[in-house]
Amino acid sequence: MPSPILSEPIEEMLELVWTAQEDGLTPLDRDHLPQQLLCFLPHPIEADGHQPQETIDAMIRQGLLSGAGRTIELTDPGKALAREVVRRHRLTEVLLRNVLQVSEEAMESTACQVEHILNAEVTGAVCAFLGHPPTCPHGRGIPRGRCCEVTLKAVEPLIVPLAQLKIGEEARVAFIHTKRHQYLKRLSALGMAPGRRIRLRQKQPAVVIQVGETELALDPQAGQEILVRRI
Ligand SMILES: [Zn+2]
Ligand SMILES: [Zn+2]
Repeated sequence: MPSPILSEPIEEMLELVWTAQEDGLTPLDRDHLPQQLLCFLPHPIEADGHQPQETIDAMIRQGLLSGAGRTIELTDPGKALAREVVRRHRLTEVLLRNVLQVSEEAMESTACQVEHILNAEVTGAVCAFLGHPPTCPHGRGIPRGRCCEVTLKAVEPLIVPLAQLKIGEEARVAFIHTKRHQYLKRLSALGMAPGRRIRLRQKQPAVVIQVGETELALDPQAGQEILVRRI
């Protein structure tokens, strides 16, 4: 397998060809890359149809693409690398969109940058954190990683809303996701901060948790807003 240190244009092209393959568009005509997929290419290149040719030539030389005449397709090593790039990109999308709830535009641009800097260990951690999601916010499949195979039998997210714990179950606060800023302030004043160990005491009519020696009654919404990591 070639060195996994790839330039950004190569990673973008891997992603483009992978996505084209998903859409049944491969082999691709290298002179007419599908318009709808050009968003995968870095911006200066996107405007000009010619520059990808250099990237394509470099990839053919590195054995990532097979180029028969004017058509291109991923080789097996190319597929293996594309899989990783696509996986990082789509996991980042899930993280940004579903957990951090950033806007769609911010998601698109940030995912394209973040995918180049996540290493294998961080990618696995993000995947586990998200509960090994099968699809991205666009509904495209996220290639499975080794972490997903291990946990395939019991795919339960590591991080769940507080209200999903069983009575008596212990967990650590992972983060608090709320737009109620005053409420967040009050919670942190009560010691509810990431890393804090808590135990769920009661769900109805109020969510009651034990933090250290004290019991706290929270409103039902907080049961969804406080995300915890099961112990
Ligand atoms: Zn997506
Ligand atoms: Zn996974």
